[in-house]
Amino acid sequence: MLSVAIDGPAGSGKSTVARTLAGELGLRYLDTGAMYRALTWQALERGLDLRDERALVILLGELRFALVCGSCLTLNGEPLSEEIRSPHVNQEVSRVAEFSSVRKLMVAKQQEIATGGGIVMEGRDIGTEVMPDAPIKIFLDADHEERARRRLIELQARGHTAPLTDVARQIQERDNKDSTRLASPLRKAADAVTIDCTLLSPDQVVQAIIKIVAQQANASL
Ligand code: C5P
Repeated sequence: MLSVAIDGPAGSGKSTVARTLAGELGLRYLDTGAMYRALTWQALERGLDLRDERALVILLGELRFALVCGSCLTLNGEPLSEEIRSPHVNQEVSRVAEFSSVRKLMVAKQQEIATGGGIVMEGRDIGTEVMPDAPIKIFLDADHEERARRRLIELQARGHTAPLTDVARQIQERDNKDSTRLASPLRKAADAVTIDCTLLSPDQVVQAIIKIVAQQANASL
């Protein structure tokens, strides 16, 4: 079964593209960022010290993630709360995702969900660590300003608001942390195709990926 890995920085439009692509190709869809967010949210709820790597790993061990109906990610049997998208979680998530033992366990959980293929997975290390053998790897990028604008629209749709300059700064900070951390930093896999989606609609990006999937299928006939 086909597996598609989509990586890229914050606000590049990965989630919309990956979800739509999965729907069009009849594949499952997993947003791996939501799993790091869920861990961060649970750690904040329980008042854990976010610098305590061991405590975070123990907590992660207690979290059971599953994909229901192909694309609904559940945590301990419940759909994920909107709280995972709160400004507080936005601010802290990269700090939690930096720890190598957290990543090791998270990647194992993601690989378990990916077993059998037939999935579109999006994140930061999907093409490099989680599904290094995926036949289709895409790296989505967009101008920093455009990414900040998209993130702000997303935040507003969820009832939060912030000046665009703050959102731009936060995205920059998160990207810096994600790309410079030691454990599986955000990086394009050597065999990934880069799509710059600054001037493309999500649908145009989806169609571009479907073309790549078709070309790949023809090439392997
Ligand atoms: O994709 P999203 O912006 O929701 O991801 C939130 C954070 O989770 C990222 O900024 C990054 O720190 C972390 N993440 C990661 N590896 C992934 C997915 C997300 O480190 N595969």
